[in-house]
Amino acid sequence: MSLLKVEGLGKSYNSETKVLNDINFEVEAGEFVSIIGPSGAGKSTLLRCINRMVEINEGKVIFDDLDVGNMRKKELRELRTNIGMVFQHYNLVPRLTVIENVLHGRFGYKTTMQGILGRFTEDEKERAFFLLAKLGIEEHAYKRCDQLSGGQQQRVGIARALIQDPKLVLCDEPIASLDPNASKVIMDHLKSITSELNITCLVNLHQVEVAQNYSDRIIGLKKGGIVFDGPNNNLTLRR
Ligand code: ADP
Ligand code: ADP
Repeated sequence: MSLLKVEGLGKSYNSETKVLNDINFEVEAGEFVSIIGPSGAGKSTLLRCINRMVEINEGKVIFDDLDVGNMRKKELRELRTNIGMVFQHYNLVPRLTVIENVLHGRFGYKTTMQGILGRFTEDEKERAFFLLAKLGIEEHAYKRCDQLSGGQQQRVGIARALIQDPKLVLCDEPIASLDPNASKVIMDHLKSITSELNITCLVNLHQVEVAQNYSDRIIGLKKGGIVFDGPNNNLTLRR
C-alpha cells in the first residue's frame, strides 16, 4: 500500500482557472521525491491539497488509506500530526527561542501565551534536543530565532516539522531564500534525517540540479499538470 495516493486531483481558487488539473501519482513510504517546476506551476497548491490547507475540488488525496478530502476536524488534526511542513520563510515565531519554536510544533502556537518550557514533558524536551543535535544546532537552543542565520532558522523549521514524528514531511521551497552554502547544508540535513528516521519526504524545488542531486525521483509540474515523473537520471520532459 502506498503512503500517499493522488488521483485525478483538480484545484482552482476561483472558478475560472484550474491551478491543478488531473494530477495522478503515488508515493511509497520512505521515498524522497522532488517536485520541480517554474513559479506558478502549482507546486505549493499541490502540497496544500495533500494536508488540506486548501479544499480539494476534484479527485482524491488518499493518505495512509484515508480520504483526505472527506476528513472532519478530528481526523484533520490527526492528519496534520502525521504530516510535517517546512516553509520557504521558515514561519518561526521570531521572538521565541529555538527550543520553544520546536516544541510548539507539537501543540500549535496558541498554547504559548503563558509559561512555555514548563508545559512540556521531559520526553518531549528530550526529543526536541535530539532533533536539534542531529541538525547541528543544539548549542543555539536557548537563543531567540531572530538571532540565527537563515540556514539555522530553516534547521529549526525542520526540527519543528519532525517533533511529532510524522510519516510524511512536505517542504515548500525550503532553500529558495538561502545562499548556495546554506542550501546545501539544508538539503544534506533533510535527506539524512528523513532517511534515518524513516520519514517520507516531498520537496518543492525550482532548481533541477538540486532535485537531481538529492532525490530518487522527480515529478515535474507545469501549468498545473505533471510533465515528468521518474527517476532523476532520466529527466526528459513530456510535452
Ligand atoms: P508554485 O508553488 O509552483 O509557484 P502555486 O501553487 O503557488 O505555484 O500557484 C499556482 C497558481 O495558483 C498561481 O497562478 C497562483 O497565482 C495561484 N494561487 C496560489 N495561491 C492562490 C490563492 N490563495 N488564491 C488564488 N490564486 C492562488
Ligand atoms: P510562492 O512562491 O510561495 O507560491 P507566491 O508569491 O506565489 O508565493 O504566493 C504568496 C501567497 O499569496 C501564497 O499564500 C499564495 O497562496 C497567495 N497567492 C498567490 N497567488 C495568488 C492570487 N492570484 N490570488 C490570491 N492569493 C494568491
